[in-house]
Amino acid sequence: MSSACTCHIDLKQCWWCLYEAEKAKVERYERALKFYANENSYVTDIGSFKIEATVMIDKGNRAKEALEG
Ligand SMILES: [Zn+2]
Repeated sequence: MSSACTCHIDLKQCWWCLYEAEKAKVERYERALKFYANENSYVTDIGSFKIEATVMIDKGNRAKEALEG
């Protein structure tokens, strides 16, 4: 993790480190949310050509990855 903090103290004791960790988490969640919020992820046909929706192929993997970090 890239951080400007060089405190080297316990991550749970340093507000800056906690802030950096939370910020990275929110960015991860936001990327996952944008995928599920995107209408294109639910498209099941292109003209007469049937395709499986991207979210069905994904099976929640993006959400799981975002939660696990
Ligand atoms: Zn720190």
